Amino acid sequence: MKYIVSLDQGTTSSRAILINENGKLIDIKQKEFKQIFPHQGWVEHDPNEILKSQIDVFEELVSSISLSDIVSIGITNQRETTVIWDKDTGKPLYNAIVWQDKRTSSICDQMKRDELSSYVKESTGLVIDSYFSATKVKWIIDNVDGVKSKLKEDKVLFGTIDSWLIYNLTNFKNHVTDYTNASRTMMYNIKNLQWDKKILEYLDIPKSILPEVMTSSSNFGEFQYKGFSIPINGVAGDQQAALFGQACFEDGMVKNTYGTGCFLLMNTGKKFMLSKNGLITTIACSLDDNIEYALEGSVFVAGAAIQWLRDSLGIIDSASDTEKIASSIKKLDDIYVVPAFAGLGSPYWDMYSRGAIFGLTRDTDRNQIIKATLESLAYQTKDIIDVMEKDSGLNLNSLKVDGGACMNNYLMQFQSDLLGNEVIRPEIIESTAMGAGYLAGLKSSIWDKDQIIKNQKIDRTFQSQIDMEERNKMYGGWKKAVKRTFNWIEK
Ligand code: ADP
Repeated sequence: MKYIVSLDQGTTSSRAILINENGKLIDIKQKEFKQIFPHQGWVEHDPNEILKSQIDVFEELVSSISLSDIVSIGITNQRETTVIWDKDTGKPLYNAIVWQDKRTSSICDQMKRDELSSYVKESTGLVIDSYFSATKVKWIIDNVDGVKSKLKEDKVLFGTIDSWLIYNLTNFKNHVTDYTNASRTMMYNIKNLQWDKKILEYLDIPKSILPEVMTSSSNFGEFQYKGFSIPINGVAGDQQAALFGQACFEDGMVKNTYGTGCFLLMNTGKKFMLSKNGLITTIACSLDDNIEYALEGSVFVAGAAIQWLRDSLGIIDSASDTEKIASSIKKLDDIYVVPAFAGLGSPYWDMYSRGAIFGLTRDTDRNQIIKATLESLAYQTKDIIDVMEKDSGLNLNSLKVDGGACMNNYLMQFQSDLLGNEVIRPEIIESTAMGAGYLAGLKSSIWDKDQIIKNQKIDRTFQSQIDMEERNKMYGGWKKAVKRTFNWIEK
């Protein structure tokens, strides 16, 4: 038996997944690593700890197989997180600045005042935000002792986590990334596939520190391990890898990952389109330089609202309790929970909105609040799908789901009712790791796209059971509720 190993470097843990030549997930190893919070709003990781945890789980995973049976490796990673290191020694010059880190908000505000918003959107597909890598790179160059002098000697390299791992796994040989990761740096022009000169000049970032950008399914180098040379043949950022892992290969196909937040991506094919409704445009996994695009929208608080029920209100013992409770009581009559705990993301983008419960009456009870909170995940998902359809002109036919909360059957049925579309839950909800594995296996000719489609075993399909009138009434109530949370706190 031959194998593909997928390395899934996430925000809180590193994982390694063993996939056999038939596309079957055989084993998973996982190791958490430290989250570092030096100041309020700052989030860092130790790049060496990331590397070590990733190699540790790899070793654990492959201990029972022969290394010569590993055909190739795929890598998927937390996106945008920024590492700067010394070209010769491979030593990080600062901790990795994580995507969640807000320290560069003021640099972003200045970019907006300098009227760069529409330029950045046209070039990179993104809205100017501290979330993306560009301003993190600038911050390190300007604030970390010794970086500027090393830059003068051309001894500095930048990479997202994929690049950092590959540089180390290949013994400092390959400084590369893939299109999907490059498209999250806010320095990469996703139409002409070049690093953006104007943005680099504005931020004073030398082009020489940036990695070479490659197709997601190609040879990124060889992992040198115990005398073996294992090709790294697939790389993609986590959300794009999940879209690929769910075999969303055609225009209009959408996946939603229900985790702490929700991440929705719609494949829009070869068409580069900009959203008029608060979505971002990003590069999807493609097998050659013929780039495909995706529209992306995110919900800040999804599974986190379920955690709130458990940890802050203490009205459930575990997240999975919500399914039984929601199913056991009758349909809600105009009760809505809007979990705008941290403002609202796409499509509203109101940082000043705050959470609220609407429609309380004397007989509203705990279970109704639980049910309404669970339903808010589906309402927020519909908000994004509606604008995806509007922006792309494409109609959704089914929604493919993954992430922890997709195991909730009540939620999935409610989602299908609300969309009026099929909701498809795969047997393997490890879409991200499978996506990276598929990319590697494609390059190694272990399988082709048709086999990946055939490999999509469905656990359960949910069909809408309500009519349009009822759907519109429910959703109309939600829209009314959301609007009333806008601008709650003072600017
Ligand atoms: P992440 O990768 O963002 O950490 P996961 O995909 O592991 O998230 O999903 C965990 C999230 O999903 C948690 O926020 C949890 O509250 C929620 N969750 C997990 N299981 C269920 C369930 N059965 N019903 C509702 N929410 C759930």
